[in-house]
Amino acid sequence: MNVSVADEGFLIVISGPSAVGKDTILDCLLDKPDQLKKPVLRCITATTRSPRPDERDGVDYHFFSVGEFHAVVQQDGFLEYANVFGNWYGTPLSWVAEQRAMGSDVILKIDVQGALKVKERVQDALLIFFRPPSLEELERRLRARNTETEEQIARRLLDARNELAQMPHYDYIVVNDTLEEAVSDLAAILRAEHCKTRPRI
Ligand code: 5GP
Repeated sequence: MNVSVADEGFLIVISGPSAVGKDTILDCLLDKPDQLKKPVLRCITATTRSPRPDERDGVDYHFFSVGEFHAVVQQDGFLEYANVFGNWYGTPLSWVAEQRAMGSDVILKIDVQGALKVKERVQDALLIFFRPPSLEELERRLRARNTETEEQIARRLLDARNELAQMPHYDYIVVNDTLEEAVSDLAAILRAEHCKTRPRI
């Protein structure tokens, strides 16, 4: 019998509309390492947008100037990068590769266009989409966050419709209706993927 266990960590890509609750779900999952088969690390991506009042550089994002960002693009330092809502966002290539090589699962929380670019470059990436129970509930959560102007809210709701249309490209869909169930679904998906007998590609 040929028994082999892959040591490299998974690349897990999470997408979903703004305010669907991606950060809250990920925070809860990472608080429960006993539910996971491998250490899971969340990738801190780079952005040229300004920090929100509660955000810190190197914790929520690496906040770059446009010049700094494009210097990294020139060096081919991003696994993928995209312009989202008028700002640049990019995933640091070397950090992701290093952590996976050391055996950790890496989670990227990126937009739909970035997720599809990652899938082209890393064919065994696992794509998971978080969707709200309804668009009305998404609008309520977006307003409750109180961080966007009316114009930004309207734009994010329009983008949400376009993002939801891309769900068929994802391997799994998790509905964030109650937080507990969404976290439990995500943990179950990761456990099941680690038990799979065949590669995803
Ligand atoms: P926010 O500005 O609300 O933090 O993020 C806006 C969108 O950009 C979200 O959908 C978020 O997942 C996405 N995003 C964050 N980092 C990256 C990245 O490195 N690449 C791409 N393509 N999207 C990102």
